[in-house]
Amino acid sequence: MANDLGLSLPDGVAFPFDNSYARLPERFYARLAPTPVAVPRLLKLNLALARQLGLDPDVLASPDGVAILAGNRIPVGSDPMALAYAGHQFGGFSPQLGDGRAILLGELVDRNGVRRDIQLKGSGPTPFSRRGDGRAALGPVLREYIVSEAMFVLGIPTTRSLAAVSTGEPVWRETELPGAVLTRVASSHIRVGTFQFFAARGDLEALRLLADHAIDRHYPDARQAAQPYRAFYEQVIARQARLMAQWMLVGFIHGVMNTDNTSIAGETIDYGPCAFMDAYDPATVFSSIDTQGRYAYINQPRIAPWNLARFGETLLPLLDDDSDAALAQANEALAGFQPSYAAALLAGLRRKLGLFTAEEGDAVLAEDLLKAMAANQSDFTLTFRRLGDAAADPLHDAGVRDQFLDPAVFDAWAVRWRERLAREPQDGATRRAAMHATNPVYIPRNHLVEAVLAAAIERDDYGPFEELMTVLARPFEERPEFAAHSEPPTHDMSGYKTFCGT
Ligand code: AMP
Ligand code: MG
Repeated sequence: MANDLGLSLPDGVAFPFDNSYARLPERFYARLAPTPVAVPRLLKLNLALARQLGLDPDVLASPDGVAILAGNRIPVGSDPMALAYAGHQFGGFSPQLGDGRAILLGELVDRNGVRRDIQLKGSGPTPFSRRGDGRAALGPVLREYIVSEAMFVLGIPTTRSLAAVSTGEPVWRETELPGAVLTRVASSHIRVGTFQFFAARGDLEALRLLADHAIDRHYPDARQAAQPYRAFYEQVIARQARLMAQWMLVGFIHGVMNTDNTSIAGETIDYGPCAFMDAYDPATVFSSIDTQGRYAYINQPRIAPWNLARFGETLLPLLDDDSDAALAQANEALAGFQPSYAAALLAGLRRKLGLFTAEEGDAVLAEDLLKAMAANQSDFTLTFRRLGDAAADPLHDAGVRDQFLDPAVFDAWAVRWRERLAREPQDGATRRAAMHATNPVYIPRNHLVEAVLAAAIERDDYGPFEELMTVLARPFEERPEFAAHSEPPTHDMSGYKTFCGT
C-alpha cells in the first residue's frame, strides 16, 4: 500500500521507506517498536523539512500522523529498530551502549536524493537501555529542536528536527518533568562508536560490511580510490575537521563529544548539554557533568582527532594485512586533520574579519582580536556582527568598542585591521554585506533558550518557542522588532550549567 507521496491510506499512513540499514545482519541492531505514550500532542512540526522529505505536513499533523510521531503507531513501510554501538565516554570505553531511548523508523530518500534516517528519540526502553527509562524530558527535546535547526540555518552540518510531541506522561529526573518525543532526521546514525562496537568484538566481517555501507551512503567516491578504506578514513577526517572549524566560528560548544556522539557523516549529532557562548572565553564549559572541562570550547578541535584516532584503530584490519603498515597508514591519514582544520578555521576567520584575500599576517591579526576579546569579556557574536558595521564606516566603531572593558584595546587593534583592509579594493558596503552574511546577529542564546523552556514546561506556553524559532530562522538579517533577541543577557549567567537531560 506504500506510495510515493506518503498519503494517508486506509490501513494507515505510509512513508516511502527504503531501509538499507535493516538489510545489514541482525547483530547490527535490535528490532522492536516504540513504546506507546498516553496522550500524544503535537507541539511543533517542521513543515519545510517534512516537504523536503516528501511527506505531507497535513498528514503528519493529523491524528494518525501524530500517533506515528509519538511512537503509538508504526507507519507502513517502517522496520523499527534500535541500533547497536559502543563508545568512549569522557575517555573511558564502554563496549556496549546503543540506542537506549531511540528507535529508527526507517530511511527516506529526500527530494535532493539524499537518504535520511527518521528516528524517534525518547520512544521508550530498548535492549540497549542499561539504565534509564528510555524517555526524554520536554526541556531537552525543545533544546535539541531549537539548537539543531539554528545550526542548520547557520550552514553547519547537523541532524534536523522534524517534530516534537508531548507524551502526556511524566518522566522522573531529579524531579517530575513532562515527557516528550523528538523526531530526528539524520544523514545516518552511524557513529565512531558503531565501528567500535564491532572492533571490540573482533567482528571483522561486520566491520567490513559497516565500512562498505558507510562508504556507499556517505563517501561513494572513496570506492574509486586505490585504497577505498584509506580514502574513507581521510574523508571522514576532513569532514570532522571542517565541522570543528564551523563550531568554533560560531561559538558552539557541543558539551559531550564522546565517540558515540561522533557521526561518520560529519554532522553535529546528539544535542544534549550543548550551548553557545555569550562572552568569549576559550575555557567555557557549560555541561554540569564535564567537571574537568574535557569538552570545553577550546578543546573541541583537540578532542575530534582523539575520537578520529579511536575510529582509525577500528579500521586497521581493513587498511592493511600487515599491522605495522596499517598503523602507518592510519597515522598518515590522521595527520591530515590539523592542516584541514587550520585551513578551514583561518578561511572562516578571514570571512569574519571581512577579508577577501589571504595574507601571511591574517592568522595573527585574528588571534590578536580573539585574545583582546577574551581579556575584555566581549560578546562573541555581537563583536563580530558589529565589526561589519565598523567596516562600512568607522562611525560605527562605538558599537564594537562597547564590547570591550577597555575600548582602547579595540582601537589599537582596529588600526592594524584597517591597514589590512586598505590593501583590498572592496568598498565598505560590500565588505559589510559579506561580513553580515557570515556573522549572525541571532543565535540561540542561553537565556533565551531557558526562557522558552520555562514557558513551555511551567506554563504550557509555546509563544516564546514559536517566536524564537521565527527569529532564528533568519539569523543573518537584522530585524528591529527582534532587537532584544540579539542582546547578551542582562543578568549574570556566569554560573550557567546545562544538563544531559538523560
Ligand atoms: P547520550 O548522552 O544522550 O549520547 O546517551 C548516551 C547513552 O545513554 C546512549 O546509549 C543512550 O541511548 C543512553 N541513554 C541516554 N538517556 C537514556 C534514557 N533516558 N534511557 C535509556 N538510555 C538512555
Ligand atoms: Mg549519544
